[in-house]
Amino acid sequence: MHYYSTNNKQHKVSLGEAVLEGLAPDSGLYMPESIQRLPKLFFDSLSEKTFQQIGFEVAKNLMGNDIPEEELTRIIEYTIQFDAPLVEVENDVYSLELFHGPTLAFKDFGARFLSGLLGYFARLNKKDITILVATSGDTGSAVANAFLNVVGTRVIVLYPSGKVSEAQEKQFTTLGANITSLEVSGTFDDCQRLVKQSFLDVDLKNLLSLTSANSINIARLIPQTFYYFQACAQVKQKDKPIVISVPSGNFGNLTAGLMSKRMGLPIESFVASTNVNDVVPEFLRTQIFTPRNSKQTISNAMDVGNPSNFARLLDLYDNDFQKLSNEIMGCRFSDDATRAAMRKVFSNFSYTLDPHGAVGYLGLKEFLKDHANHTGIFLETAHPAKFIETVEAAINHKVEVPARLETFMKGEKKSIPVSSNFAELKKLLPTLIAQ
Ligand SMILES: *Cc1c(COP(=O)(O)O)cnc(C)c1O
Repeated sequence: MHYYSTNNKQHKVSLGEAVLEGLAPDSGLYMPESIQRLPKLFFDSLSEKTFQQIGFEVAKNLMGNDIPEEELTRIIEYTIQFDAPLVEVENDVYSLELFHGPTLAFKDFGARFLSGLLGYFARLNKKDITILVATSGDTGSAVANAFLNVVGTRVIVLYPSGKVSEAQEKQFTTLGANITSLEVSGTFDDCQRLVKQSFLDVDLKNLLSLTSANSINIARLIPQTFYYFQACAQVKQKDKPIVISVPSGNFGNLTAGLMSKRMGLPIESFVASTNVNDVVPEFLRTQIFTPRNSKQTISNAMDVGNPSNFARLLDLYDNDFQKLSNEIMGCRFSDDATRAAMRKVFSNFSYTLDPHGAVGYLGLKEFLKDHANHTGIFLETAHPAKFIETVEAAINHKVEVPARLETFMKGEKKSIPVSSNFAELKKLLPTLIAQ
């Protein structure tokens, strides 16, 4: 399978190049050159397959023969070690719980698959790889845990000092081994700028074999298609059309859903649900895309003003607005509406939403108002304990903290304080790798 750049379909590379490069040289995003429908037999037996079997066949369909089957099996087993249960919240409204992984957010799927693939290519090329990642919280923890002790890889996490929650910080600063955390005196934007500057510095990029781990990397999207299949496999009543609401920030998760539909998965519609950072719902309403600075909200993993996967959304529909808007409805919700949804769902149905899942739930309910007789699914992208203060205040009830989160909290934080100056970082990075 080859992958083309969304900026130039003639520019095609192998899977290895697409994954190691992350972004195409022309700043486009990589897409598989064909997304084939899976055979009828696959769908007929979907409900009998295990999650890992589904993952294997879907991955094979998107990756072709670029990776030996036994390697792919190993990577799938590493990626899918936890379930994605479909839980009925109210009549015909289901939560697809994607938070059962080690760092309690759906990003565990993408980070673990990427780690498996990069580990494979590092061994194949006999060259160690350095993953440089800027985080506002969830990405750093998922990536650090996914790469922990993976031979041939080293992770350097840059995070803004004092601007991530303690639970998030502990999930990457306590690991040691091949994971190093740099505590930047600055903002998330500073961290992201430092990472970009490092990639643009050709000497540094080559010296350290720098690789990106954020959702521009196609390897993070591929495993996110698996759980859409797993969701449909769990739907008991098969005669109603299915709609899936995706709480969105950079729109990687929604893109993966659309790719699943392209592979033949019977999902009738999608809802692109956002907080007040609503450039995509606005685009779906007006056909005008206006990126802008993000605003802070209680669903902070979706505080994105210039969604990086927008190019992939357009590409999937050949820039045809009509086709795209026929399949995707956009919705935005305020923090007050989000809190009210958490409160209502807890008191009426004893189900605890996190702020991101609550946005997804609201978008789904909005769709169902005008489309009765559908099976509705929203993605619950993180465990409520990750946002414990916001959730407990909203539902006025204690939230149980899973044991794996408590274990992180007991670890000792180790980080290296750095300034937001690139020249200093450039001097420091090679010394870290030499250790
Ligand atoms: C990253 C994240 C999102 C947004 O996902 P995208 O693929 O960037 O749209 C939503 N919820 C949670 C909890 C996240 O961590």
